[in-house]
Amino acid sequence: MNSAAINLEELKNSFSYNEYRLLLSKIKLRLVSFKKNLPDNFIILRHDVEFSVNRALDLAILEAKESVQSTFFFQVKSPAYNPFSNTNLKKIMHLKSLGHKVGLHFYVSHIVQNDKEGLVKEFEKQKSLFEDGFGFGFDVFSFHRPPKWVLEIRDDIFCGAINAYGSSFFEFSDNPLQIKYIADSKHRWGYGHPIDALAFSKIQILIHPDEWTEKGEKDVGLFFNELIEEHQKEFIETLDSETKHFSDFKELYR
Ligand SMILES: [Zn+2]
Repeated sequence: MNSAAINLEELKNSFSYNEYRLLLSKIKLRLVSFKKNLPDNFIILRHDVEFSVNRALDLAILEAKESVQSTFFFQVKSPAYNPFSNTNLKKIMHLKSLGHKVGLHFYVSHIVQNDKEGLVKEFEKQKSLFEDGFGFGFDVFSFHRPPKWVLEIRDDIFCGAINAYGSSFFEFSDNPLQIKYIADSKHRWGYGHPIDALAFSKIQILIHPDEWTEKGEKDVGLFFNELIEEHQKEFIETLDSETKHFSDFKELYR
């Protein structure tokens, strides 16, 4: 293997912005957004935001510089971030102003198995939270960690919104033949690297912005470490701005 090939393999698993820009350059001409009546040949780029609004905005800015628009899904019941805090709201509005779509990342882990009625009620609840909190609506959503019974809902439209796991966008099969699904979950390309899947005519790529940084981090332990440190830094800033007496201790956390 020559050194250029080795470098490409290294880059392909670095979770760095250089890897991401390379990926965009390969897919950008085929990108479409979630919509009815998709063409025969498409790539949909989707982002589920699990932990870091900062990293979501950074990725959104990178995409805008590359003239790419995609769809970012935010949770409204996340234990990791509050999308409606003033700082996060500003960041999400900034992201939206770059031309990206914003949708609901629908948290369903607490719904009892096969309780479709409960699922619909929860959707309506989270939809209201989303609309009230952001001041705008959404027409597309993605399930967060959908169990099998939820993935068995194959309709493209659920409760009036486009379901990112609907049959036009996602093939529910261990061996999909029509629509290739690719994700960076668990900080690895578990379904193969997107650059190696371009022969498929229909592709949905799920990229979690939380996994990506400018310099990247291949090692999953170090990746978690950096994410935790970023989160801690934000919390320290919150303690500092929301209390008067934390300033005596702030130095301890530098
Ligand atoms: Zn998720």
